[in-house]
Amino acid sequence: MKSRTRLTLQPRKYSFRRKLIVGLFFLAIVFLFFKGTLWLKNAIFAKEKPAEQLIEKIEEISMPETKKNTDRVVEYKISDGDIPAEVFQSNGKLDANDVESLLSCAKDVYDFTNIKVGQKLRFYFDEEEKTKRIEYDKNNEALIVVERKADEFSACEEKISYEVSQSTARGKIENFFYVDAMEAGLQEATVLEVGDIFSFDIDFTTEIQRDDEFVIIYEKRSRDGQSAPDGKILGAKFINSGTAYFAYYFDNGGKGGYYDSEGRLLERQFLKAPLSYRHISSGFTGARMHPITRKVSAHYQIDYAAPTGTPVSAAAHGTVVSAHFEGGWGNIIRLTHDNGYTTHYGHLSKFAQGLRVGERVSRGQIIGYVGSTGWSTGPHLDYGIKLNGVPVNPLKLDLPKGEPITGEQIKLFEETKNKFGDLLK
Ligand SMILES: [Zn+2]
Repeated sequence: MKSRTRLTLQPRKYSFRRKLIVGLFFLAIVFLFFKGTLWLKNAIFAKEKPAEQLIEKIEEISMPETKKNTDRVVEYKISDGDIPAEVFQSNGKLDANDVESLLSCAKDVYDFTNIKVGQKLRFYFDEEEKTKRIEYDKNNEALIVVERKADEFSACEEKISYEVSQSTARGKIENFFYVDAMEAGLQEATVLEVGDIFSFDIDFTTEIQRDDEFVIIYEKRSRDGQSAPDGKILGAKFINSGTAYFAYYFDNGGKGGYYDSEGRLLERQFLKAPLSYRHISSGFTGARMHPITRKVSAHYQIDYAAPTGTPVSAAAHGTVVSAHFEGGWGNIIRLTHDNGYTTHYGHLSKFAQGLRVGERVSRGQIIGYVGSTGWSTGPHLDYGIKLNGVPVNPLKLDLPKGEPITGEQIKLFEETKNKFGDLLK
């Protein structure tokens, strides 16, 4: 057996070597050819563009003023398929040992083998072209900073510093809030945030009317002169079918939240709807957004006609009583909540992965997906609320308003409110 293997291996080895030589020769020709065309290009375009711009693939960015001007910085945006170790090796000029020591030193602060696609890394080089500092944008608010002293790396997490200015976006509903708000200058994340803020009062999936109005005061941010993700929403007004709703951001003794004009927290036990505007809008463009309709039927059951697969959220914090197939209801979930309330969600196409009877679910958590199981003529969600076993109209649910601001804080809240009062008129 052994000699046989050897015999068959030998010729392969020779042919591999031959292939290698031919391959290298071919590569050399290709390299020389490209070098030649690049030289030609440079010669032609030399007057308009400096040669470096044609060769340099990685964008060099301007230095933040706080750092020394002698530093050279290379910024790299992580793309799909990137291997973390290779990203550090090729952009940061680090060898395998450096990368290993970097990963293990930073481990407790951030696991760099988990760098995310689309996030940016910046490599700062010293005069000897050695990486002395690496920055990684962990998310919109935080930055991981790695510094090198000799062959030791140290890592820490820092808050990203933005230049912040207050901005106001106002508009009228002409198509969808999602589209109209972005046309008014809001970023997508901020538009979805507006939906969250008012999710206890307005069902953004079915109640928004043409000519409704909005005013959003928010933090517009930039970073080193470049536009950056919006910051907090500071104040907002939404006029829905003639009724004005207000929201003011207030830091109530370290607990930031949104309050109405009377200084009561907007959060209540139940969301206005079990279909979340955030889950429906995100990733859609106006033209592709499906209109969702709502119909209250006998016994105060609500039918939401929505495409199969639309995520269904728990309307309040609660516990799963059942999640199974029940004749005419099809796949149905029943939840119990505080204060004697129960809810049901029928005709689902499927349950959220891993949903178990007895499990606690939080308000807004996805528990299932719209479908047409059981006695149903088309995809819709059958939603109902009972109070002590008696059906109540979810649209007229008389829930206590949220916690009010008390004591010393009232004066501070009034100041916040007055500051935005004119803008929200
Ligand atoms: Zn139904």
